[in-house]
Amino acid sequence: MKTNVELISTRVYAGRLKDRENLNNSSSGGAFTALSDFFLKNGNAVVAAIYNYENHTTEFQMILDKDQRERAKGSKYMQSKPGGIFREAYRWLMDNSGKKMLFVGMGCQSDGFRKFSEIKEIRDRVYIVDIICHGSPSPKLWREYAESVQKKDGKITFLTFKDKRNGWKSPTAYVKVNGEEKSIKDYVKVFYNRCALRPSCYECPYATTERKTDMTIGDFWHIEETIPDFYDSNGNSLFLIHTNRGEELFEKIQSELDYRSSNTTQCWQANLEAPTQKSEQREEFWNDYKKKGIDFVMKKYGSVPVKTKIKNKLLKIMGGGTQKVVPIMLITPKGGQHNELEAA
Ligand SMILES: Cc1cc2nc3c(=O)[nH]c(=O)nc-3n(C[C@H](O)[C@H](O)[C@H](O)COP(=O)(O)OP(=O)(O)OC[C@H]3O[C@@H](n4cnc5c(N)ncnc54)[C@H](O)[C@@H]3O)c2cc1C
Repeated sequence: MKTNVELISTRVYAGRLKDRENLNNSSSGGAFTALSDFFLKNGNAVVAAIYNYENHTTEFQMILDKDQRERAKGSKYMQSKPGGIFREAYRWLMDNSGKKMLFVGMGCQSDGFRKFSEIKEIRDRVYIVDIICHGSPSPKLWREYAESVQKKDGKITFLTFKDKRNGWKSPTAYVKVNGEEKSIKDYVKVFYNRCALRPSCYECPYATTERKTDMTIGDFWHIEETIPDFYDSNGNSLFLIHTNRGEELFEKIQSELDYRSSNTTQCWQANLEAPTQKSEQREEFWNDYKKKGIDFVMKKYGSVPVKTKIKNKLLKIMGGGTQKVVPIMLITPKGGQHNELEAA
């Protein structure tokens, strides 16, 4: 198919929203808000993943206004369901000639949509963004976890994996039940310990800086070391631009951002180099899950070891910080770390 989209050598930017409120309620630096704002204010459409509080799944939806877009914000650590979104997006574009669309999904989902858009000859009307990904846990595991919480405590009315009350580098993960916060750090620990991801995630071909979407967004981890004078403790997005249209799109949103030009060395992180490695405990985890259920595996694989807890208590009493429980793949080549798991 003939298209005006051309691959370019990857360009890299660090950036974040100028608007502090929107920065604070975004997972990283608010790249998704800047991008989706641009489409919505011009009467165009956005496709992104929204959490459904009735069936506890994350589903792709067509988004046409900012209220609905707010519901798409936030990283949901479970595999999302595209459902019939490709066909729905196509139909919308056919019914709205002259309009454009932004599609935002994980690497595998966005590349699938790119191929679909080429086959359907709509590539020039869609802007395709993918998200850097550690891997997606089984959606069934999260659903059972959420159902177990609800059985014990009541209906979940709010979910966040990356609340920034302790800063972007130490996200807090919780659900709200009966107006009260309940930590879900056991689930987050299981997410990071590489047992529960989909089998295909361990062989992900999108764990690279070279992709065929227009743009990749994610966290600009370690920016405090690589571009210290640009670091903001409230969040920093990474933008990888892959096509001429991605570059055009980044120019359109620049006025909403503070940004810096960067490079692939400064933005290095594990999941831009290789897929997450399968845990040696994966088989044992799923056997335990099948035999003993969700509460058992959360307790066995999702709790902080007693030794670490005691050490942390002692460190606190002595006036020091806490010992970090850092997942293997978040350790940088230089040995630097970020403490997402500890604070979750
Ligand atoms: C499972 C998962 C693993 C991730 N792993 C990494 C990582 O290893 N390194 C890294 O740099 N960044 C990772 N991220 C991305 C990061 O957490 C942010 O989502 C991303 O930087 C966008 O932040 P924001 O501030 O622009 O967006 P926000 O305004 O917070 O919006 C989040 C965006 O993510 C989409 N989204 C959220 N959950 C899902 C889902 N389950 N499926 C599809 N789309 C979803 C939303 O639709 C929205 O477009 C991961 C995200 C997820 C969901």
